[in-house]
Amino acid sequence: MLDVANNLKTVTKRIRLAEAEFGRTANTVKLLAVSKTRPVGDIRVAIAAGQRCFGESYVQEAVDKIHQIESTDIEWHFIGPIQSNKTRLITTHFSWVHGVDRVKIAQRLNDQRGPHQTALNICLQVNVSDEKTKSGVSLEALPGLVEAILPLPNLVLRGLMAIPAKSRLVSEQRSAFGKLRERLHALNRQFSINMDTLSMGMSNDLEAAIAEGATIVRVGSDIFGARR
Ligand SMILES: *Cc1c(COP(=O)(O)O)cnc(C)c1O
Repeated sequence: MLDVANNLKTVTKRIRLAEAEFGRTANTVKLLAVSKTRPVGDIRVAIAAGQRCFGESYVQEAVDKIHQIESTDIEWHFIGPIQSNKTRLITTHFSWVHGVDRVKIAQRLNDQRGPHQTALNICLQVNVSDEKTKSGVSLEALPGLVEAILPLPNLVLRGLMAIPAKSRLVSEQRSAFGKLRERLHALNRQFSINMDTLSMGMSNDLEAAIAEGATIVRVGSDIFGARR
């Protein structure tokens, strides 16, 4: 039987153990509960169990659920691919966007973020395993994207996000995550900025991601069960 509250406990324990094992400061890795395709009831159970940050991938589905939940202290993160005709709904309903990989999208998010709203937190999605089919900016194009986004006043560039090629080898998982961490530090030096977020690690590889510096892990199936 699906037991969201118990699964949340187990995943949280894994995160705390990995922090300890890999010399990370306790309680510094944030758990994003990925609730895409899950019913509102499951989200309510997670909220009742104390979870506050949720990730969604499909704009219309997310907006419907956000309206039903109505809680003001929930932090909603958009983690899916971004179509330009959906940017307004994203700026209205989310405080974080993890999948930015083009200047045009960043520009629209900036222009549509209302002046009464706080700046939108942005992570750039990096195609760290250089897969042809995957979205995300290439490592080569990344500095240009950072340079274009930094002047946009309604966005805060928080860091980098990646979904590396699946691997069951921890060494391969770590090498991809390590690459993202090195890139974040290199960009911070190059532009004299202080990006503080590495959004990496999911159900199957969150320990490897935490070992390499993840500050946000995005976990779906290990909390809400396998997606059908
Ligand atoms: C679905 C999804 C996740 C969660 O993946 P699980 O393997 O179910 O933990 C994390 N990040 C992104 C971008 C996703 O789309």
